[in-house]
Amino acid sequence: MAGDYTLTIIKPDAFNSGKAGKITAHLEQQGFKIRAARVMHLTDAEAGEFYAVHRERPFYASLCNFMTSGPCMPMVLEKTDAVAALRVAIGATDPAEADAGTVRKLFAESKERNAIHASDSDDNAAREARFFFSESEIIRAR
Ligand code: ATP
Ligand code: MG
Repeated sequence: MAGDYTLTIIKPDAFNSGKAGKITAHLEQQGFKIRAARVMHLTDAEAGEFYAVHRERPFYASLCNFMTSGPCMPMVLEKTDAVAALRVAIGATDPAEADAGTVRKLFAESKERNAIHASDSDDNAAREARFFFSESEIIRAR
């Protein structure tokens, strides 16, 4: 897993407005390979656990409410140095501050409703991938 895999989520704002295909195509064009994918509607407990690191932040309740507002699309992506590459590809948290051509600049609505999640370290990528997928659901090179 280390180095070449990361976890992304197409968030409910983007999924509900029919942007999942465009965002996926955008990432594939940049060399990310889809190694696992599912569509799901997070429960309150799942959103709360996934974002537990932000429990003390003022936006936590609103973020969990947003993430349970509709279906989302978690995916495991593979690319060399995937975590860093995907953070560059998605852009800054606030689309107003995101670089041109990034997913958030192209597809996000606001700092909260910002279209996409990306893991921020190899350890978190591994943990987050296992949050959504069993090991046998993640395609590995053979
Ligand atoms: P993500 O973890 O989703 O990839 P990120 O790493 O860019 O995003 P974090 O600081 O981890 O940003 O915040 C997690 C999510 O919480 C953000 O993506 C956004 O949806 C929401 N968020 C962060 N800061 C704010 C804020 N100040 N106001 C509202 N929502 C926020
Ligand atoms: Mg984050």
